[in-house]
Amino acid sequence: MPLANQMGIVRFFIILAVLFALPWNTEAARKEKILVLHSYHQGLEWTDSITAGIQSVFKPLDKTYELYYEYLDTKRNTGNDYDKKLTELFAAKIKNIQFKAVIIADNNALAFIKKVYRLLNGHPPIVFCGINHFQPDLMENLPFVTGVTEETDIAANLDLMLRLHPERKRIVVILDKTTTGNAMKKVMTEFVAQYRHRVQIEFLRDFTLEEAASLIAALGPDDMVCLLTFNRDRNNHFISYSEGIALLVEASKVPIYGPWDFYLGKGIVGGVITSGFEQGEIAAQLALRTLNGENPQNIPVVTGSGTYAMFDDNRLRAFHLDPRRLPENARIINSPPGFYERHHRILQICGLLAIVLLAYCCWRLFSQKRERDRLVEMNFALDRLVEEKTACLKETNQVLRRIAITDDLTGLYNRGYLLKQLAGKIETAECQSGNLSTLLLDLDNFKWINDTFGHDFGDTVLEKASAIFRSCLRGTDLVGRYGGEEFLVILPDTDLEKGQLIAEGIRKSIQSCRWDRENFRITISGGLVQYAGESVEMLLKRADKLLYQAKDLGRNRIENRLRKPDDKVEESRIVTPTAWD
Ligand code: GH3
Ligand code: MG
Ligand code: MG
Repeated sequence: MPLANQMGIVRFFIILAVLFALPWNTEAARKEKILVLHSYHQGLEWTDSITAGIQSVFKPLDKTYELYYEYLDTKRNTGNDYDKKLTELFAAKIKNIQFKAVIIADNNALAFIKKVYRLLNGHPPIVFCGINHFQPDLMENLPFVTGVTEETDIAANLDLMLRLHPERKRIVVILDKTTTGNAMKKVMTEFVAQYRHRVQIEFLRDFTLEEAASLIAALGPDDMVCLLTFNRDRNNHFISYSEGIALLVEASKVPIYGPWDFYLGKGIVGGVITSGFEQGEIAAQLALRTLNGENPQNIPVVTGSGTYAMFDDNRLRAFHLDPRRLPENARIINSPPGFYERHHRILQICGLLAIVLLAYCCWRLFSQKRERDRLVEMNFALDRLVEEKTACLKETNQVLRRIAITDDLTGLYNRGYLLKQLAGKIETAECQSGNLSTLLLDLDNFKWINDTFGHDFGDTVLEKASAIFRSCLRGTDLVGRYGGEEFLVILPDTDLEKGQLIAEGIRKSIQSCRWDRENFRITISGGLVQYAGESVEMLLKRADKLLYQAKDLGRNRIENRLRKPDDKVEESRIVTPTAWD
C-alpha cells in the first residue's frame, strides 16, 4: 500500500477517535460531579432532611454542579454479604465517574467510604455530616476530609425532661441495637450514673414491636420516655421513624422526648433537637469551599452546631405544659395561629373597608370643597352681574330721567321740567332776595317756513336754533322748548337790563346764522320779564303778552315792557317774512 494511502487511513482513525472522545452532552460534561452518600434510605425523614439541607446550597448552583445520590440503606439491610455486594455495585457504578467532592451522611457511610475510597477516581475530598461521637481517629485512612459533627446533647435532653416534669421519677430510654443505638448506649450508660440522684434511667433495647408497645402502655404517672433509636426490633424487623413514633404515641400515656427532628411534630413533646437540615446545609457549604480550591485539611471540623430546644404545641397542650416554663429561645411548632392569622380574612376586609371609607371621606371632602368653591365663584359671578346690572340700570335710569326731562327733537329741556325748574328758581330767588328773569322766545313766521321748505327742514331749523340758544347762554341759565316753535329761557340772578343783553345776543345770533339756502334767514321774537313776586302762571302770562307785543311790532325783537299806543318803535327792528333777501 502506498505511503500516502496509509497516512490517510491513520488520519481518518484519529478524527474518529477525537469524535468519540467528545462529550455528546456538553453541558452535562461541563458540570462538576458531587457524590452524596447516605447511610440510610430515601424516605427516611432524617436522611431526607439532610438532603434538603444539601440542596438548599446546591440548588442555586445546578448549572455548575451535578449531585449523585447513593443510599446504602443500612437501616433495613445489614450483614457481610450485603456489605460485599454493596461494595461491588458501588464500584461498578462509579468506575467511570470522576467526583470533585463526596458528601457522606452518618456513620455507616463513613465506614463504607473508608473501604471504597481507593476505588474513587482522582482522590476527591470527603465532607461528612451526621457523625455521632466524632473522634479524629474516625478519619484515619482518609486523606482529604472535613465535615460537621452531629451533636446529640443527651444531657441537655435529660435536663429538659426533668425541668418540665420534676415530679416524674423514671426515664425509659428507647435504644435499639442498630449501630447508632449501640454507639449511644455507651454514652447513655455514663448518664445513668451521673443522674442517679435525680432520676432513675432504664433502657428498652431488646424488644419486639408488640413488647415495646405493651411496655410503653404500662408506664405510669412517675414515668416518661426518651426516644433515641427505634429502627429495628429483636426480629431484625425494620421500623420507619413514622411507624415507630405512631406506635409509641398510640400506646403511651406519658410524655415522650427525644433529640431528633424527624420525630418532632409526629408525637414527641419536644427535646433538644438535632437538625438534619442544618447538618446537610453545613456539609454542603464545606464541600463548596473545597470545590472552590480550599484544602479540606485546612478547613476545621465544625462542632457544636445545630441543637435547639424545640417543642410541638399540640403535645405541650396534651400534657398541660405551660409554655412559660420552656427554656428561653425555645422554638415551638404547630403553634395556634395568632390573632392576625385567625382573623386575617376579617382584618383584611376591615382594612379594605377602612381604606374604602377613607377614600369615600376624602372624596366627600374634596367634592364638598369643590362645591363650596363653585358656589363662591358663582356668588362672585352673581355679585359681578348684579353690579353690572345695577350700573346698567343706573345708566338706564339716568337716560330715562334725561328722556323724561328732554325734548326729543331739540335736546333741550321740555316744558314740564322747565316749569318745575322755574318754580324752584323762584323759590331760591325769594329766599336769597335775588333777581330772576324769564324770556319767552318764538320763531318768526315758522308756519311759512314749514309750508315753503317742508316740515323736515322746519325740524332742522328748530334743532339749529336750539343749539344757538344754548351757545348764547351762561352755565347757570336754563333753556327749554315751551311748545311748537316757542322756547322758555330762565335767567337766575339776572335783572331786566342784563336779561335784555342776553336776549339781544340770542336774537342777533339767530338772525346772523347762515343756512344752506340762498338768502334765507330766520328771526325770533321774545318777551322778557323780571320776577316780581307773582305766581309762575302770571309771570309767564306777562312774558307771553310781551312776546305778542313783539310780534305785533313787526317781529325780530325782544320786548321787556308793555308799550302805550303812542310809544315810538324803532323802524329798523321791523321785519317782514319777505324782507330776508
Ligand atoms: P308768527 O311769526 O306769528 O309766530 O307766525 P308763525 O307762522 O310762526 O306762527 P303759527 O302759530 O301761525 O305757526 C306755527 C307753526 O309751527 C305751525 C306748526 O305747524 C309749526 N310747528 C309747530 N311745531 C312744529 C314742529 O315740531 N316741527 C315743525 N316743522 N313745525 C312745527
Ligand atoms: Mg312763530
Ligand atoms: Mg308760536
